[in-house]
Order: sequence, then structure tokens, then C-alpha cells
Amino acid sequence: MTTAMNNETAVASSQIRQVMIRQPVKVARYDPEMERLCWAIAEDSTVRNPVYPATVRLVAMTCRRCVLDRDFLAQGRIGDEPLLICTGCGETWTPTWGGHWRLSGDPQAFNRSLLLNAIADAGLGRDPNALEAVTALRADLAAGCWTPSWTDHGFSHQLRVWENETVNVEALRRSMYLEGWRERSPALSEALARAIGLLHLPESEKQGLPASLAQEIVALAWEIERVPREALTGHW
Ligand SMILES: [Zn+2]
Repeated sequence: MTTAMNNETAVASSQIRQVMIRQPVKVARYDPEMERLCWAIAEDSTVRNPVYPATVRLVAMTCRRCVLDRDFLAQGRIGDEPLLICTGCGETWTPTWGGHWRLSGDPQAFNRSLLLNAIADAGLGRDPNALEAVTALRADLAAGCWTPSWTDHGFSHQLRVWENETVNVEALRRSMYLEGWRERSPALSEALARAIGLLHLPESEKQGLPASLAQEIVALAWEIERVPREALTGHW
């Protein structure tokens, strides 16, 4: 029994998870300007009772490309530092990227706990995968349960025509980060982020996306483009 449970736990912890972080994540950000100000105050002999500003502030973590501050997909195994994927523009990074974050504790522990918390929120069930998410969108579109937006149409046109139906990280990112990207349907954004996450896995780097997923994304793009323009939601 114990062995079975251990095996189960081992399988669960070795599984790569893709879970959404929907709320802003506050991180301690080091502000070099404030540190310079502290030095200036310290060296100014005319200041009798110096008051030093804080050099570390809590700020919401943002995507460095589109500055979105929520709705990131976190990917990794339990105990890993996650890869974050922005559902706005497809950018990827680990939470402590760029050296801007100076955390009072251990940055790696912070990253790991970010993924653990997101997994705790998502539960231990299986995560929706990109293929299922795209297939569900195609079914919703065919059934009339989902009406794409002008931005969804722009994504489709970019991917199909300008990217020549190539489904890789760069083509997906360019197709996602078009004017009006905030109007893209959340379900489409999330499915694309899941696909980009898959493409970042070492085995996908060698083999590319499973052909079935790439075909499904292109098929969805065709179907979105066929929606009459007057029926699209949002504004162009
Ligand atoms: Zn972004």
C-alpha cells in the first residue's frame, strides 16, 4: 500500500503541470534609484535627521513584453522553478528573470512556491491540454456557442497568411501580439499559451509540436477567418 502510494506520488510529482495564475503576483522589486537617493542622503552633511526611502518595493510582476500583470500560465514539475508563459503575448520567463527582483529570502524558493501554490489552486486533476482546448474551441464555434472577436480574426489571418501556417513559438508570438491583443478571447489565449509551453519542453524542441496540434490550430484559424466580419465581436 505504502509502495503504491509512493509510486503514485512519484508519478504525480514527475508530471509536468500547466496551471493558470490568474491573480497578480506581488514580488519585492529592488529600486536602484532609491538606493542612489539613500547614498545621497547619507553623504549630505546638511541633513541632520536622515529619513531613508525603502529600496525594495512590492510590485505586481509583469510581462516584460506586453506588461500584462496577471493570467500567466505556469509550467513545470512539483519542486521545479516554473516557466511562466504570458497569455497576452506568448513571452516566456522564469519569475526571477532580468535581475530586477531582489527578494529577501531565496528567489528559487519563491519560484518553486509560486508553482506549488498555483498547483494547489488548480487541484491534482489533469490539466487541460492545448489540443483539447483548441478542439473544444472548434466545437464551440461550429455549434454557435462561441463568437470570435476581431482580434481572434487578426490572429488567424496573421498565422495563416503572414506566417504561412507555420506553428512555432515565434510565429505564435507574432500572431498573438497584434494591435488590440487584449480583446482576444481568453480561451484562445490560454490554448495558445499551452501550445507555447509545450514547444519549450526539451523533447518538443527537437521534434516540434505534435502534428495533430499544429494542424488543429491552423484548422481553427481557417474557421475563424470564415466567420462573417459583421458577426465578429469587439472593434477593429
Ligand atoms: Zn506578455
